[in-house]
Amino acid sequence: MRVLEKTYPPEEWASGMTPFEVLVSTVLSQSTTVANERRGMERLRAALGEITPMNVAAASRTDIARAIWHAGLARQKAPRIRAIGRRVASAWHGDLEAILGLPTDDARRALMSLPGVGPKTADVVLAMAGRRAVFPVDTHVARIARRWNLTKAFDYGAIRAAFERWTPPEKRIAWHLSVIAHGRTLCKAQRPLCNLCPVARDCDWYRARRRRVRNKG
Ligand code: SF4
Repeated sequence: MRVLEKTYPPEEWASGMTPFEVLVSTVLSQSTTVANERRGMERLRAALGEITPMNVAAASRTDIARAIWHAGLARQKAPRIRAIGRRVASAWHGDLEAILGLPTDDARRALMSLPGVGPKTADVVLAMAGRRAVFPVDTHVARIARRWNLTKAFDYGAIRAAFERWTPPEKRIAWHLSVIAHGRTLCKAQRPLCNLCPVARDCDWYRARRRRVRNKG
């Protein structure tokens, strides 16, 4: 992991963002590219002035959908973002920091009680906005966990637990970001670029594949 951290210095994409912006950005990032998610955030900021729970709650779904159009699935994401804004505004007085002030498990539960917020989104907010020592799991992290034989499980909690067992708390955020960067760059779902991979020597999936090739030859 230290090799990956050097190869992909962690990009702290949430720096300068409020916790609510981190939450909205995570919703927008689903099923789209980083560039399009960022365009969606920029346009939403321009449309609302500031991305706050109150402003989102006061906006119409149509206006939100129009602003986030670049991020894709705007008709699904706009009502979710608006519903989250309304709930944070009404149940938490518009203050997501209040949730992040809770112990980690309580904060995760509170985040997951917001409309459409699942464990991955909750963990990204805990890690990137709350600086909690959690290891959020996305599709890249899940795939790499199995390729490295950290777990054979497919369920979210088991994969997160596998990475957390294996990672010192102070490194979880940085290594989570490095693993995602590795999944996007080399360790792709289809045809991973193992010949360029700096950690191939330690990769169970790669070693097993080489054994199979040798045995065939
Ligand atoms: S060797 Fe291949 S499968 Fe293993 S981590 Fe590297 S890119 Fe991924």
